[in-house]
Amino acid sequence: MDGFGKVALPAERETGLGCANKRECTSQLCDLSADGAEPFTLEGWKRDVSRTPIIAGCLAGLAFLALLALMQRKAPDLLVSQPCTPTQTCQHTWSLTSRLGDIITYYESRIGQRAPALRLLGIEFTAARHPAIWFPDYGDGHKSVIVQLTKQARFHRELALFQLGHEAFHLIAPTPNLRTTYWEEGLASYFALAYLAQRNLPDGRSHLTGKNYQLAHDLTAELARLHRGSFDRRLKALRHRQPSFSRVTADQLGTAFPKAPANLIRQLVAKFPALSADRSKP
Ligand SMILES: [Zn+2]
Repeated sequence: MDGFGKVALPAERETGLGCANKRECTSQLCDLSADGAEPFTLEGWKRDVSRTPIIAGCLAGLAFLALLALMQRKAPDLLVSQPCTPTQTCQHTWSLTSRLGDIITYYESRIGQRAPALRLLGIEFTAARHPAIWFPDYGDGHKSVIVQLTKQARFHRELALFQLGHEAFHLIAPTPNLRTTYWEEGLASYFALAYLAQRNLPDGRSHLTGKNYQLAHDLTAELARLHRGSFDRRLKALRHRQPSFSRVTADQLGTAFPKAPANLIRQLVAKFPALSADRSKP
């Protein structure tokens, strides 16, 4: 999954629900007890709240923030890196960012260096249905890439790890403006699961949903099974001939993996369907 587009710099965000800005929200709350015009009473406070939409909106905003804080406390360790204690051997606990580095390192150890041409900016969450990488254009001549995980992954550690592993594979040889193939999508899921297994992390197979993604993975896993013991070496050699996974032709794939039947090769180099055709993907 990948995307392309001009970056839209975010406008200043409003900070309170029902409030124009934080200062207004704060002053309204302070005025309740500090204006001196009327002694504070619970009944009076309730009356003012019910009569003042802005105050009610502010309180709703505070309630929302409190709920968000509560959710943050239950958030996975991948969102907030903690300094390790003196008795531990680490410096910080894992975060999404440090995991991304470990995932890329693992992939490179198996199939060679990632293409360094793109500036890796980081990870964000998206309200879109699918995780993705996308290529913001700042007009400065640099090519940049951002990893997007779904907002559901924000509080779901296993889902976040699987999505991160899948999207991280697309960082090995990103190809903006090019539709991926079953080969690249299959490799992305295959290597994501391999990373989780290698690091003894929870198996992410339950998150491999969507019939096209499952098919892509199964086709790739079958090709890997047919070349057990030489899969990584052959894949690395293929990358030297064709760096882009989604530009690999049937001839190139068949030559690199000679035990794969023609039908398997043909399915793998086919273009991956548009995401709208795979509605069951989270
Ligand atoms: Zn993908």
